[in-house]
Amino acid sequence: MSSMSSIYLDHNATAPMAPEVLEAMRPHWLAAGNPESRHSAGRSARRAWERAKETVARILGADPSEVVFTSGGTEANNLALFGLAGRDCGPASVVSSPIEHPAVAEPLARLETDGYIVKRPMISLDGVVNVGDFAALFQAETRLATLMLANNETGAIQPVKELTERASVLGIPVHTDAVQAVGRIPVDFHALGVTTLAASAHKFHGPVGSGLLLVRKGTTLAPRLFGGGQQGGRRPGTSCVALAVGLAEALARWHEESGARMTRWRTLRDRLEFGVVTNLGTDAVVRNGPLDEAHRLPQTLNVGFPGIDGDALMIQLDLAGIAASQGSACASGATAPSPTLIAMGVPADRLRSSVRFSLGAQTREAEIDEAVERIVSVIRCIAPKAVATGLS
Ligand code: PLP
Repeated sequence: MSSMSSIYLDHNATAPMAPEVLEAMRPHWLAAGNPESRHSAGRSARRAWERAKETVARILGADPSEVVFTSGGTEANNLALFGLAGRDCGPASVVSSPIEHPAVAEPLARLETDGYIVKRPMISLDGVVNVGDFAALFQAETRLATLMLANNETGAIQPVKELTERASVLGIPVHTDAVQAVGRIPVDFHALGVTTLAASAHKFHGPVGSGLLLVRKGTTLAPRLFGGGQQGGRRPGTSCVALAVGLAEALARWHEESGARMTRWRTLRDRLEFGVVTNLGTDAVVRNGPLDEAHRLPQTLNVGFPGIDGDALMIQLDLAGIAASQGSACASGATAPSPTLIAMGVPADRLRSSVRFSLGAQTREAEIDEAVERIVSVIRCIAPKAVATGLS
């Protein structure tokens, strides 16, 4: 591998679409046929649409009637949160983790301005919510609980199933933002016991602009859009068959090789961490997130380099041809430290110098070895300057 080739380790921001997914979508972009039309072109589009729903439902442990296709994770989260919170008459509260993605945190902030009380438990340094602390915030007026399945920054897998067990006793619906979990770990909608679940195709090599919300049968969900009544009125608008087919194809490809992908990811993720730690020392590289494998996404590594200037680090990594991320992609460019790491209580000396490396289906060992070399030389290059700045 040439030293100037770029190494893409930012799949939690977006994962490039697989060529096979593009091929699967191609005929549906070119074909005429609205799935709502009754002529044969319409019926053919309808069959492809229904097949996509069936594939998704089978892999995610849902019924096809529970699948609502959306424009992505942001829309799916908004639909669930506003759709389940209902109209506010009398006191109403929502309980949420303090580490949600802006696609959940921002709708909750809007609910707060509309008069809802949003409660959030504290979270410990490992970035995993304590179910007891979370459930302790449930009250008679709690309308909804929301807990992401895996954190986008640390890859920490959250105890969603344990939470739904506590919430269901009280009749509280639970939404989970599973955008970073679907396509990385097995996800079973019914087994999780949640009311709604959001996912997004571009995180697992599907098309960007395509996502879904699973909505448990019998749930009343107030729609955000009004129009032609498509998708049972839950998300009206002419259905984009190609985007649904692309999502389903990408998910099916993940499902076929999920065991092998997860094993390879864990090996490569640990090789990356081990390589950097071995070269720089355990004091110079500190992992952010859980220690135990059961609570870790297989392809996400978040590490802090204490005392290193975060902006310089990101610039130098980019110049060295490494695409990684500081905080979430939507917040990149901003110099504010990550709200997730702040909520976890990550010490100040590595708040701004933490980097997320996230692997994809095509990440290979040679790239990881090359990445280790480049990361190590970037840190060695900027470390003395950071020390000098500290002394001046
Ligand atoms: N939720 C999480 C946890 C995410 O990481 C993201 C994207 O980064 C989203 C939601 C938003 O998904 P989309 O980009 O499909 O709108």
